Amino acid sequence: MNIQPILKVEGLSKAFGGLQAIGDVSFSVWPGEILGVIGPNGSGKTTLVNLITGFIRPDRGSVRFKEREIAGWPPHRIADLGLVRTFQIMRPYYSLEAYRNLIVPLNSPRARRMGLGRWGERETVALDILEEIGFERDSFVPYKKASALPTGYLKRLELARCLALRPEIIIADELFSGLSASEIASLVPLIEKLQMAGMTFIMVEHRLRELFSLAHRVLALDFGTVISQGTSQEVMENPRVREAYLGPGGGD
Ligand code: ADP
Ligand code: MG
Repeated sequence: MNIQPILKVEGLSKAFGGLQAIGDVSFSVWPGEILGVIGPNGSGKTTLVNLITGFIRPDRGSVRFKEREIAGWPPHRIADLGLVRTFQIMRPYYSLEAYRNLIVPLNSPRARRMGLGRWGERETVALDILEEIGFERDSFVPYKKASALPTGYLKRLELARCLALRPEIIIADELFSGLSASEIASLVPLIEKLQMAGMTFIMVEHRLRELFSLAHRVLALDFGTVISQGTSQEVMENPRVREAYLGPGGGD
């Protein structure tokens, strides 16, 4: 059987003024895999996420999601197809209770098509999703205002907001940043569970050790270009990656 990539990025480019934030980036993502994306600060990771999910329009290049060209589409249309992202800077509705944060995505056309957003059932569905992602159902946590949630739960809420759209791909932009080792350790099995259930992930991460325990394949960026891709071991053994992370002669 000839398996097609679920996402195929080709020649993607974006400059901000004179700065080539993403230059001629190409890669494929396979259904059900966890692809890690690494790179030093400013290497273009978030810009890449923004380009794929429609938050920034590319100057050039192609983004094909399940054979459909989506480059330049607006974010809501891309999300409606099932390609969603989390934000590095979280953006919950802080004044709303955690579970109510999911009412908006549950009201979206995609959630309704998926049978999730039926009137009168949305609150139950919201609590189900939060439970799936580690909010203890019988506690007060799902009913707390988002502004009162610790970072670990806000990160879960970001994921829950994605799950409310029953996506096919989740692009997570530094999901682990700002979390303690034990908070990350409790998130990892949730991601594994979603992946086992068929979800595809692109995980942009700074936390390499935790990422490498999850990712099947890793792509390394530097100055907006792909400098290496392969297994985590192959990528970390690449001299250009070592130099990008550790400076010239890095790792010697
Ligand atoms: P990363 O997520 O890898 O830290 P970014 O994609 O955020 O990197 O940024 C890549 C480069 O593009 C940086 O030099 C950053 O300053 C620049 N950049 C990002 N967004 C913008 C923007 N909207 N306008 C101008 N420059 C930007
Ligand atoms: Mg970033």
